[in-house]
Amino acid sequence: MSFYKMLQEKFTWDRIKDFIYSRESIHVKNALSKPEKSAEDFATLLSPAAENLLEEMASTASKITRQRFGKTIKLYAPIYLSNECTNSCVYCGFNRKNDIERKTLSFSEIEKEATIISSQGIRHILLVSGESPNVVNMEYLKEAVNICRKYFSSISIEIYPLSEKNYYELYKEGVDGLTIYQETYNEKTYSQVHPAGKKRNYLWRLESPERGASAGIRTVGIGALMGLEDFRTEEFFVGMHADYLMKNYWKTHFTISFPRIRKAAGNFTPHQFISDKNLVQCMLALRIFKNDAGLVISTREPADFRDNILPLGVTQMSAGSKTEPGGYHNEKHTGEQFEVEDDRSVAEFVQSLKDKGFDPVNKDWDRAFLNTAS
Ligand code: SF4
Repeated sequence: MSFYKMLQEKFTWDRIKDFIYSRESIHVKNALSKPEKSAEDFATLLSPAAENLLEEMASTASKITRQRFGKTIKLYAPIYLSNECTNSCVYCGFNRKNDIERKTLSFSEIEKEATIISSQGIRHILLVSGESPNVVNMEYLKEAVNICRKYFSSISIEIYPLSEKNYYELYKEGVDGLTIYQETYNEKTYSQVHPAGKKRNYLWRLESPERGASAGIRTVGIGALMGLEDFRTEEFFVGMHADYLMKNYWKTHFTISFPRIRKAAGNFTPHQFISDKNLVQCMLALRIFKNDAGLVISTREPADFRDNILPLGVTQMSAGSKTEPGGYHNEKHTGEQFEVEDDRSVAEFVQSLKDKGFDPVNKDWDRAFLNTAS
């Protein structure tokens, strides 16, 4: 059964929301005591009632994380290839209607960015782009990947949804990671926040992680943009998606991100305020539910928050990020997707991880593995 069909048959939004808000402390204690967590247990851990048991959840999550991942934090950085976009996502600085400076990096500019980032020790790069298939087309993407192969051992993409055939072409070129957020799993809200452009196609986006995994991509990241919907219900659907993917694509490693809406051109006001406590609860619930999922926290979160959540479940973090095309080699910062909150340099962040007893991991993958597999 497809994930979409399963959602329609088993998990309607309103029913899950009612269930989450009906939970009490006794249900949370029961859920925590079980060795294997069901979907209902996971929903219970996301409930308001679970807020009173966050310390117990933190202790469980911390133990699982140490067992599965040790004290490692994988580092990565993004290169924004282009901020041109044909979509109008109401929450995004790259919305086609926003009056920002538009830019697509030339190949020599990509090389400049790659040189700077790799000189800081980063070996895992994330290539990001708006949806502008006429400009950032397959030929452009393949060349960008080719350039980055000289500098990085792992290359991920965070771009518009592709067909399985296109994902496979990029995989053959050297892409081993894909990040694609559903933004919101509530189909009605999805259509409201994506009023125009190709991104309106909910199903095409929802099934991108499956197409990527089928194409052989070894790490696939999913998530919802926190602030568009009731976050507890939203994260339940993120967890269900992760559960489905992990069961059906067992060769792929899945990661989950928790992006909160940040200040950006267009000045979108989130539909719901997500506190630090809210985000932490979601992260703990996900770690307890899906023990082996990677959990990602980017530089859109402030430095002190990132430092404080280190022991709880996070396994992957960006460092020294710029969110506009050319941001690493140009001093003038315009046309960014959102404002970065943690602006520490890679060296500062690495030192801070070491001071707290964590092992920053720059490289955990080599293309030689990909060649063997293909
Ligand atoms: S979220 Fe992506 S598709 Fe939507 S406007 Fe921003 S860059 Fe374009």
